[in-house]
Amino acid sequence: MPGRIISPAPLAEESEDLTIRPEHLDEFVGQVQVKESLKIAIEAAQKRGEPIDHILFSGPPGLGKTTLAHIIARELGSTIRTTTGPVLEKPGDIAALLTPLQEGDMLFIDEIHRINPVVEEVLYPAMEDFFIDVMIGEGPSARSIKLNLEHFTLIGATTKQGLLGAPFRDRFGITCRLDLYDPVDLARIATRSAGILKIPVTPDGAEEIAKRSRGTPRIANRLLRRVRDYAIVKGDGTITKEITASALAMMQIDDLGLDELDRRILGVVANDFDGGPVGVKTIAISVGEEVRTIEDVYEPFLIQIGFLKRTPQGREVTPAAKKHLKNPQKTLV
Ligand code: ADP
Repeated sequence: MPGRIISPAPLAEESEDLTIRPEHLDEFVGQVQVKESLKIAIEAAQKRGEPIDHILFSGPPGLGKTTLAHIIARELGSTIRTTTGPVLEKPGDIAALLTPLQEGDMLFIDEIHRINPVVEEVLYPAMEDFFIDVMIGEGPSARSIKLNLEHFTLIGATTKQGLLGAPFRDRFGITCRLDLYDPVDLARIATRSAGILKIPVTPDGAEEIAKRSRGTPRIANRLLRRVRDYAIVKGDGTITKEITASALAMMQIDDLGLDELDRRILGVVANDFDGGPVGVKTIAISVGEEVRTIEDVYEPFLIQIGFLKRTPQGREVTPAAKKHLKNPQKTLV
């Protein structure tokens, strides 16, 4: 889905705008419970003078998992290195990352559910007892040696906690689930980002962006930038409710923040399969997307707003979804 404006994944042209990324826990909007338990864990680690426990963040993309990992490192004055699950193919890949870590250093692994199982096995003793076994040499002369590691902290992020085996999950002392944000928090995020980027935005302009951001801060920030461009060309540069509505209508993003692909997914279930139930694989083929993308990116929001249901037999659309499909662009004249 290259260029999809409401994709919660970072777009290629969007080097995540580091200036608007919160640096401290206090600046991180919403997710009250997660922040509270992290605050306690950080303070406890500081008081004990020990590295913080391993942490696992789960939740849909764009909700702040990476941001929180960096915040924790900053709050504790730790160095953090980052990698992602799919690039860790061999035990040697993870060994090379772990062995240089000093006491208190952090390793952030995004998409940790996608690491190779052989790498996962190396991580077990590393996380629990701070050593790894590495194979030296090949063939009959190969032997395994034990390498001690410093007391590091692993921070994992996953969109799919269910895909992590219990033995792996259990090795994280702290697990935090991030939920989609409500519009009030998203409006605060949009207003905060607008302030940093010096974009004039009215309160109802921020609310309109929030309502259309699918519960996702990354999308709120992206819409803010897109609407800014529109406001400069079509208005006086200020983001108002009206400017937002017409900018997003031009981008085919409807009142609820759904784009053409969301509507196609709902349409396939509603029209081609008579409301469902229909398997996610069939939906994926019909709309030309990967199953993983449908499950991770599109479904969480469609389920949250009560448009889609997951049943043991497959996906079903609700009457509310059918009604919306008939008139998705109420604000368009
Ligand atoms: P994830 O790792 O879950 O995909 P990120 O941590 O990369 O998400 O967050 C995406 C963007 O959204 C970040 O650049 C950050 O600026 C913004 N963001 C996420 N959560 C918040 C929040 N709670 N408050 C303010 N900005 C946020």
